[in-house]
Amino acid sequence: MVEVRGVHKSFGALEVLRGVDLTVGAGHVTAVLGPSGSGKSTLLRCVNHLERADRGYVAVDGELIGYRRGRGVLHELRERQILRQRAAIGFVFQNFHLFPHLTALENVVEAPRFALRRPAAEVEAEARALLDRVGLADKADVHPRRLSGGQQQRVAIARALALRPKVLLFDEPTSALDPELVGEVLDVIRDLAAAGTTMVVVTHEIGFAREVADTVVFMDGGRVVESGPPAQVLDAPRHERTRAFLDKVL
Ligand code: ADP
Ligand code: MG
Repeated sequence: MVEVRGVHKSFGALEVLRGVDLTVGAGHVTAVLGPSGSGKSTLLRCVNHLERADRGYVAVDGELIGYRRGRGVLHELRERQILRQRAAIGFVFQNFHLFPHLTALENVVEAPRFALRRPAAEVEAEARALLDRVGLADKADVHPRRLSGGQQQRVAIARALALRPKVLLFDEPTSALDPELVGEVLDVIRDLAAAGTTMVVVTHEIGFAREVADTVVFMDGGRVVESGPPAQVLDAPRHERTRAFLDKVL
């Protein structure tokens, strides 16, 4: 479902991604671990073309992201086409990024209603079902400032799902939460995994990665240092850098 091949990305002289490969099968969950600054967020942003890779490519469901091939060369897509592709790639941010002036329901309705121009009644019914799915049926008319961080993040997940994405990307979805609110968000992600949602989750929650991920990827210095099943990467890491990182976070 997600194919990242040889992706390089620099910001000025700073080489942030140094040739990253990643493959996520349909219905699979990949957890990405790694120290701060290792390029995890940049990698996610390259997947949905919020950042343009300098080299390499990303494909989702067989479709090249951000480009089309023409006469043997790549042409960058127009903004409108990139937005269409991005709609199929849900993104959940560390800091929720909800629209503060809209209610929970309006946040979920916004994109399918106004970006995809789907009918109001249908979109609203689906949005209510999504809020119910993340345990917030009773918060539909509440604004984000009156919700806890965990509730806000669950609205953000419902909002991402409203576009019926092929894949969901999570960038440290629980890092901004008080410890007692982490569980309710991880529970929602766990349910999505059980329902066969394709996901890439950047997280420091090692226990969660062990339990939910099919594949764990450890990044350091802009490279994938190692990847494999959780039991291998987390319990029997092959690389000293992975071991050192796990020693720190466990
Ligand atoms: P991580 O998510 O693993 O902490 P990031 O992908 O956010 O890492 O960042 C990797 C490196 O790239 C960091 O040194 C960060 O400061 C730098 N960086 C990220 N985005 C930008 C940007 N837009 N401009 C300049 N430097 C950036
Ligand atoms: Mg980050």
